[in-house]
Amino acid sequence: MRSVSLLSLLLLSFSLQAQIVFDDYFTDRTMRFDFMMAGNSTTTKVYPVSFREEPFWGGSLVNLTDPFGYGNFVYEVFDAATGTLLYSRGFCTLYQEWQTTAEAKQMERVFHEVATFPFPKNKVSFVLNIRGRDGKFSRLYETVIDPASYFITREKPDASLASRIYGTGDPHTSLDIAFVAEGYTKGEMEKFRNDVKRMADFIFQEAPFDKYQDRINIWAVEAPSQESGTDVPGEGIYVNTALSSSYYTFDVDRYLTTQDIRRVNDYAAAAPHDQIIVLINSPRYGGGGVYNYYSAVTADHQLTPKVLTHEFGHGFAGLADEYYSSEVAYEEFYPLDVEPWEPNITTRVNFESKWKDLIARSVPIPTPNDKRYTGVTGLFEGGGYSAKGIYRPSFDCRMKSNQADSFCEVCQRAIEEMILFYLK
Ligand SMILES: [Zn+2]
Repeated sequence: MRSVSLLSLLLLSFSLQAQIVFDDYFTDRTMRFDFMMAGNSTTTKVYPVSFREEPFWGGSLVNLTDPFGYGNFVYEVFDAATGTLLYSRGFCTLYQEWQTTAEAKQMERVFHEVATFPFPKNKVSFVLNIRGRDGKFSRLYETVIDPASYFITREKPDASLASRIYGTGDPHTSLDIAFVAEGYTKGEMEKFRNDVKRMADFIFQEAPFDKYQDRINIWAVEAPSQESGTDVPGEGIYVNTALSSSYYTFDVDRYLTTQDIRRVNDYAAAAPHDQIIVLINSPRYGGGGVYNYYSAVTADHQLTPKVLTHEFGHGFAGLADEYYSSEVAYEEFYPLDVEPWEPNITTRVNFESKWKDLIARSVPIPTPNDKRYTGVTGLFEGGGYSAKGIYRPSFDCRMKSNQADSFCEVCQRAIEEMILFYLK
């Protein structure tokens, strides 16, 4: 049963952390490691780029190691002298998504990556692990970081760019979401701050975020662009913007992302944050969300509230897409003989680890794809870009369609567990 196993995982991580006192190992700032991932559909190499000190640490001082096991990568920070695990975090990248496209079978490409953790007091060993097609992690890259090195850039971000829109809580015990402006000119920053307010209200109206409104800080970080909007390569539209966002990611027209995660983080550093949402000044439909990377959404489409919460479901809680009929660039994203790590889909290889405990005895397994079962937690075939062999928890959900009223029960539980992780 998932609730029991997660609880025991959490307890295990708390007990392992009992001996780790934040102040013994870290200062209240952020260490940022920029690197590149390069390769093709089957190989990945890591190349270091730079280190930087950022002025705030917005994360928990208590929950330092990651109990969730989500993501296609996880990085670990060890005390170099003793080998003690001090910090870990799972994440996903656009690079790994690209690896599942047809192009990655033909050629090699390189993507920028950023990893952050609290700024260490002593030398640490940074280890990056990659998840294989079999679902297991293996060591991909390792380096020792000396916090005293003068090659760690200590340039300060422009603090005047950040303003707190909602919330008064201590960032260490709050969920801090930094919205970074994209495609807003200097003259449009009042619109940006008002747009951030609207976006925050959409999140606060969505369960289970609605229960935790007083524990969530919302930050607006201005990143002024020369021009308004975003690129639409398929229509020959190119706009000079701060974060170089673009539609047609992996040649999918509605998939809107930026591959310049370095600049996203340069701006986000002006505010303490746990999560980044790139808010794009456009009335078009689209967005994207990558777990512990960033989420992106346009500000002014009528479906923006749905797209925002859907993409934040990816970016914040590692939720999978529960749809299987829309066009995507991926080829065999999930192997059917491996249990996916995402909490809201299953191949039934290890369904016990997922939401079996939430299904009532009277509900048939698998559950018929029938409107009669709307709002019932079950095991519905179709999800994760595949109509066969991958199952989802609900007839409809925010992670499946824009018609759904809310996140399904399973997605809500996963989001709530993640919120609580940041509030400790
Ligand atoms: Zn769901």
